[in-house]
Amino acid sequence: MLSVNEAENIIFNLVKPLNHQKDIETVDLLAATGRILASPVTSQLDFPHWDNSAMDGYAVIYQDVQQASEEKPAVLILVEDIPAGYQPQSNIQSGQSARIFTGAVMPKGADTVVMQENTRKEGDRVFILKAPNPQEFVRHRAAYYQAGAELLPAGIQLNAPEIAILAAAQCTHLNVYRRPRVAILSTGNELVTPEQTLQPGQIVDSNQYALAALVKQSGGEPLMLGIIKDEPEALKGAIADAIANADLVLSSGGVSVGDYDYVEQILESLGGEIKVSSVAMKPGKPLTVATFNIPNGAIYFGLPGNPVSALVSYWRFVQPVIKKCSGIAEGWKPKFIKAQTRENISSNGKRETYIWGKLDLVDGIYEFSVAGGNKSSGNLINLAQTNALAVLEVGKKLVNVGEEVEVLRVY
Ligand code: AMP
Ligand code: MG
Repeated sequence: MLSVNEAENIIFNLVKPLNHQKDIETVDLLAATGRILASPVTSQLDFPHWDNSAMDGYAVIYQDVQQASEEKPAVLILVEDIPAGYQPQSNIQSGQSARIFTGAVMPKGADTVVMQENTRKEGDRVFILKAPNPQEFVRHRAAYYQAGAELLPAGIQLNAPEIAILAAAQCTHLNVYRRPRVAILSTGNELVTPEQTLQPGQIVDSNQYALAALVKQSGGEPLMLGIIKDEPEALKGAIADAIANADLVLSSGGVSVGDYDYVEQILESLGGEIKVSSVAMKPGKPLTVATFNIPNGAIYFGLPGNPVSALVSYWRFVQPVIKKCSGIAEGWKPKFIKAQTRENISSNGKRETYIWGKLDLVDGIYEFSVAGGNKSSGNLINLAQTNALAVLEVGKKLVNVGEEVEVLRVY
């Protein structure tokens, strides 16, 4: 049995990111939200596009006003009004000024803006009551970005700030990585869909939905292949189909040591190389990871059937895998932080233990609360609102209330 760290190293090294030339699609700006940029973006526009004013005030020549004060104001003749969006006509000469507004283009000749609060207007004259600094309140053309340079690099996720930048740069079509395709199947004779009527002993296949939701949230495209019976032939067909058509395959169930747990032997019969078959963690000990030596063969994750275990295994291993696969350059690794626990957390110390609950930031300190209700790993109900897992390393049996605990942030 592998330790969590050993399993993590093996698994993360199996993942090849999507190809930045082949695995791409062109989408328009809003559809690019949340996607990973596949090619760097360059703009032909300078930012700012023109020298412009950062204030409502008066465009002046610095030399004219450098001695100005309340007692001895500089008096300038107003030659033009320059609102935002207007092309100035004047060329400011010594002794002249233009009324100017935030974002408006600086007129020729002027080099400084005096804020309105330090002036007094009388008819067509303005009194400058305080000397500005040279070039004050002028945003110079290309001060933020010079046309032709790289505006955004490949490998970043496009969130609202990047969408704003791209809109401003008039980049309306973007090359993004396609989403990793993740096939999902559930194994078990006891399973029915959420729409079917339950017969005694049956269980609804919640894992299919949990995993599809997780895959979407990790940036993947879920392919829901449904429920497969614990019958070797049926399973073999479904698994062969899945590995040929997806980047990753997630199955749940059938990876323990029970009489109906066929997944590992089927993977081997299909030529799979088993890289991981169990991990010293709780929950989530049964975990089968396999690869296939065929072109574009998927990485296979046989997750435990227990709904809590399936989610914990996903968060610990699969979420980073999908993110790494998606082409993102940084930030795909699991995010651990230290938090204070609000209650005692215990483990038998034998396997690395993951306790689900809620992470909150309270007065600048991260606090972790264990999910309420029945703490059985068969209890799916108390997973609601889980956003983090507290982690107790092997050998650690107790973390007392108020003490620091390592927490894996999953949302
Ligand atoms: P298994 O790993 O196949 O032995 O399943 C372990 C437990 O998880 C059993 O109680 C199953 O009924 C339950 N289980 C397996 N698959 C699913 C599923 N897709 N959705 C919900 N529960 C499941
Ligand atoms: Mg089963």
